Formats: sequence, structure tokens, C-alpha cells
Amino acid sequence: MNSNFSYWEQTSFLSGYDVLIVGSGIVGLSAALHLKQTQPKLKVGVLEAGFLPAGASTKNAGFACFGSISEIIDELENTTEEELLKVVEMRWKGLEKLRSNLGEHGIDFKQWNGYEIFKDRDVNFASQCVDQISYFNQLFAQVIGKPDIYSVSNEKIVDFGLNRIQTIIKNKYEAQIDTGKMMRALLSKVQGLGVAVFNNCYVKKICNNSTEITLQTSQGDFRTKKIILATNAFTSAFYPDLNILPGRGQVLITEPIEGLKIKGTFHYDHGYYYFRNINNRILLGGGRNLDFKAEETIESGITNPVQSALEELLFDVILPKQKVKIEQRWSGVMGFGDKLSPIIKQIKPNIFCSIRCNGMGVAIGSLVGEQVANLVLNS
Ligand SMILES: Cc1cc2nc3c(=O)[nH]c(=O)nc-3n(C[C@H](O)[C@H](O)[C@H](O)COP(=O)(O)OP(=O)(O)OC[C@H]3O[C@@H](n4cnc5c(N)ncnc54)[C@H](O)[C@@H]3O)c2cc1C
Repeated sequence: MNSNFSYWEQTSFLSGYDVLIVGSGIVGLSAALHLKQTQPKLKVGVLEAGFLPAGASTKNAGFACFGSISEIIDELENTTEEELLKVVEMRWKGLEKLRSNLGEHGIDFKQWNGYEIFKDRDVNFASQCVDQISYFNQLFAQVIGKPDIYSVSNEKIVDFGLNRIQTIIKNKYEAQIDTGKMMRALLSKVQGLGVAVFNNCYVKKICNNSTEITLQTSQGDFRTKKIILATNAFTSAFYPDLNILPGRGQVLITEPIEGLKIKGTFHYDHGYYYFRNINNRILLGGGRNLDFKAEETIESGITNPVQSALEELLFDVILPKQKVKIEQRWSGVMGFGDKLSPIIKQIKPNIFCSIRCNGMGVAIGSLVGEQVANLVLNS
């Protein structure tokens, strides 16, 4: 910890904040953006533990999605139709907000459709999902305002060169983005509005009295009137009662592939596996369901069972019999909970949180950030 701060550093960088946000993922930065756009004079700062955001926002797959049919059927088993509809609307509106905040060009937004694939051995499950298409089309038209969202698209099996696949359900409103470009654009927009973002600044403790909050960090103490915790999977270090469970997601990416046939975002096995094209490569992730307990961790890392399952899907189904190198592997950490909706609330006087994106933060993160910022502004 630095004990050699100057008077100037203390007054300009470490204190006098109206709002300090902990966590520079999509939610934290979107909250900062909305605060400054609404009240430009506010002094806003963001404290981030990592050299880059260290949770999910720069590690994800960049699906601009709002749910595949099998995922939604699963979600409906644990929630009411009303809550599901609210969350799907949030995903859709969150994606609209992301595009209006940063522009489609800035995030490489490409509406190349989403596809849910079913293996030939899952024929019964596939037909259960197909049977639900008209129900979900009608239900979601209420919040998305578009008809015929999902449809069977089996002719694409050959076009994509998929092996062992018997059914495909298309979502014509699903898209993909470049996650790196999105986060750079968001960071630069926020910094352009005068928000100070401090990296390698791990918040160890929150101390509040009636007039001020002190955040003890790995670099020194910061002082502010209000804070927003946008710490997603890591929140239980501060508030274990909020009941956030981490879920690690592992990913791999191939080398560029000549003549790649895959184009769009793809879901498999209740959404537990996902893949897409990016710059002539395949990005493929998932497999958390192979061992939920082992993947319920905030530690980064890859494991043999998950990586082997990803490779099997890659070389058996997606790129059958092709000799392609895997260039990179990584992991990120998501925040899950027993409810589908995110937690956006005041926890204590002057302390707010916006957490638990349930693995869909590209979709809902911009809106979650805006909503918590509004809570702070109205408090
Ligand atoms: C592999 C993978 C694939 C995904 N694919 C998709 C997808 O295709 N589409 C989609 O919609 N969603 C996807 N997600 C989910 C999405 O990325 C997340 O829901 C979203 O990024 C969450 O954003 P956040 O800002 O809430 O959290 P995070 O991005 O995790 O940000 C929280 C930040 O808080 C920081 N922090 C935590 N504790 C402290 C502390 N004490 N002091 C300082 N800083 C701290 C962390 O370092 C982190 O940077 C995926 C996630 C993963 C891991």
C-alpha cells in the first residue's frame, strides 16, 4: 500500500467522490456512464481489482442473445411466466441499450442469427422443444414486439457442415458482438466523460459512517459519499447473505480456418455449450454442467474434463474430421443465484449493488448498470 500520496493525489484522485463503483465490468462501467450522462458534474470513479476486468466482461463469448428454447424451458421450471417475461424483456432492451450506448459499428454487432442444435440421439427432446416454438413466439412477441422469432431450420445442417445433428431451431433476432471492442468502447466513453478508472485496485474493506464511506484498497484508502458494488461473482466477499454463487466458464478458440462454414451463434445441450464464428475461427465454450461443484469457483483456470468435452464437440460435431489447431484457452467467472432476475438494490445507507447477471450480462449488463445508477441518483 502506498503511504507516499501527495496532497494533490489525496484531493484529486483519492477523495471527494460522489460515487465510487467497485468493478469495471460491463455493469460497473454502464452505471458510471449513466451517472455522468445524467449528472455530468458528479465526481465518479471506478475501482477494479484486475489489470483488466477480472470476472466475465472481457472473457465472454459475445452472444447478443435472449434465450434458446431449451434454456427457456429450463428457466420456466424454476420461475413464473411473469418473471421469465420480465427477464427476456430486460435482455432484449439491454441489447438495444448496448447498441445505442456504443453504436453497432463500435461493437461489431452482426445479426447473423442464433441456432440451437440437437443431436440425432436427442430426437425426443428436440421435438419437445419444436412443439414449444409457437407458444414462445407468441409469449415473447409481447415484449420483443416481433413475430416468428424461432423457427425450425434443418436445411442449415448441411450448409454449416454439422455432424450428428438432426434438428436446428433458428432465432432470427440473435446476434454477435466483438467483446473486446465492446469493452474498449465502453471504457473509452466513460473515461471521456471524466470518470477515473483505477486498475490493480482491490477493495478489501468497506467502512461507512453517517457522512462518508472509506474503501480500503490494495493501493490506499478512497473516500466517497456513495458506492455501487458491481462485483458480480465476487460479491460474497463483502455480503455473503446476497447468496451469489460463482460459475466458471471455460472457452477455447481455434486458429483461422479456411472455408469455415459456421456463421452465427450456436447453443447446444440446454445452453451449456455455445460456439460462434469470429474472424474465421471457432470460439467454443461451456461444459460447466459436467461438474457444477468444481466450476463453482472464483479461481480462473481450465480443466481436462471440460476441455476434453469441448474438443470432442469441436471435432465430432462442429468441424468433423478437420485438422485444426486450438490456439488459446481461457476462463471467466459468472455470478448465478436462485432467481433469474439480477439483484439491483440498496443494501445499506449509501451502499448499492447491481449483481447476478446469471450468465447473460452482455444482454442485460447495460440496463442493469443504468438501473442501479438511477437508484443512486434518486436516493
Ligand atoms: C466464458 C463466458 C462466456 C459468456 N458468454 C456470454 C454471452 O455470450 N452473452 C452474454 O450475455 N453473457 C455472457 N457471459 C456472461 C457475461 O459475461 C457476464 O454476465 C457479465 O460480464 C457480468 O458483468 P459484470 O459487470 O456484472 O461482472 P464482471 O465482468 O465479472 O465484473 C466484475 C468486476 O468486479 C471486479 N471486482 C470483484 N471484486 C472486486 C474487489 N474487491 N475490488 C475491486 N474490483 C473487484 C472484478 O475484477 C471484475 O472485473 C459469459 C461469461 C463467461 C465467463
